[in-house]
Amino acid sequence: MKYPLLQDTELAGRKVFLRVDMNVPIQNGRIADDSRIRAVLPTIRYILDNGASLVIASHLGRPGGKRNIDFSLAPVASRLEELLGQKVFFTPDCIGARTATMVASLKPGDVLLLENLRFHPEEKEGDPDFARKLAYCIDIYVNDAFGTCHRKHASLKGLPEMLGGGYIGLLVQKELHIFDEMLSSPARPFTLLLGGAKVSDKIPVIENLLPRLDHILIGGGMAFTFMKTMGMNVGRSLLELDRLGAAEKILKEADKSGVDIFLPLDIVIAPSSGSPEKARTVAADSIPANEAGLDIGSGTVEQFGKIIEKSCTVVWNGPVGVFEIPPFDRGTRKIASILADATKNGTVSVVGGGDSVRAVVEAGLEKKISFVSTGGGASLILLQGNELYALEALRG
Ligand code: AMP
Repeated sequence: MKYPLLQDTELAGRKVFLRVDMNVPIQNGRIADDSRIRAVLPTIRYILDNGASLVIASHLGRPGGKRNIDFSLAPVASRLEELLGQKVFFTPDCIGARTATMVASLKPGDVLLLENLRFHPEEKEGDPDFARKLAYCIDIYVNDAFGTCHRKHASLKGLPEMLGGGYIGLLVQKELHIFDEMLSSPARPFTLLLGGAKVSDKIPVIENLLPRLDHILIGGGMAFTFMKTMGMNVGRSLLELDRLGAAEKILKEADKSGVDIFLPLDIVIAPSSGSPEKARTVAADSIPANEAGLDIGSGTVEQFGKIIEKSCTVVWNGPVGVFEIPPFDRGTRKIASILADATKNGTVSVVGGGDSVRAVVEAGLEKKISFVSTGGGASLILLQGNELYALEALRG
């Protein structure tokens, strides 16, 4: 692995700044899902067991650069305290005199959680002064915030640069290892399953993976841009007109490389996603001008399923329909369950991308998938073959 590892540094008696992604869903002041906290527990325990004191920092939601109690990390501090079985100090602000005093007085084995970094606009702006304030009294920087590693925010890029580099935590190591293995020597046949709304950020993924792929299955809103290039009418379905050329190029390149691209055979349509009661299935080439395609039909699910079943590696990014609104969630749910069954039969399955992960979790299938990435945007960048900004900064 290309980055300094947490295990490579001497921790005893030092103060560690650990950037994590504890951006958990909070409903009525309660944490609805604590998996992002659990995901970094091994790193936290490792650091404490090795005699360091720990300052943990995270963002939560989009408070818009202002203090907003609805986005406070206070519930996270309580949950972390329960999970660790020890006192977790909590600062009402991530910078400032009071925080500095608390950081300075930490003893080996102590844990301090800072309040939401995004209460300050300077975090997202990547402001070096803000990074300097966060660096107060810190000896070592560790990044275990895989889900936000594609950002250039102050705590992710400016801070490690200021401290002369840093280390990757155990979660980031695990994520990178999975993607490295899969991208360098995938078990074939290797299938890429794409969905979601945007073609633009998935085209570089196809381009990067094409030489290693056997099949590409395309559903979701992005399928219509491909269908349009083939001369089909897509009605009011999602379309990225400025990507028609890129989609056409992909179809040609795939053909040249012997990679099969599968587009939907049938589509669930309605006048809009706001009229689910009018949902009906039509053949992919028969979408009326005044209706939109909102999910893949059962014939497509069956066809995609056959490919998934015979694949040794499947990477999935993006739901194949508007899965937030039933009945347009059916295709995505069915695909998730087919993927879980294939995994049971030996397929290596990797799900990345916030929405496809959400679909898998909502279907209760998370444990039946080989690897569910904690980072949507970050995993997309890795699949595109690019480096994550925050990790680049760790080299110092
Ligand atoms: P992305 O972030 O590009 O992976 O897009 C995820 C979003 O794509 C989800 O909110 C889905 O509702 C949306 N989506 C999936 N299929 C369609 C579709 N056929 N039409 C419109 N939106 C879709």
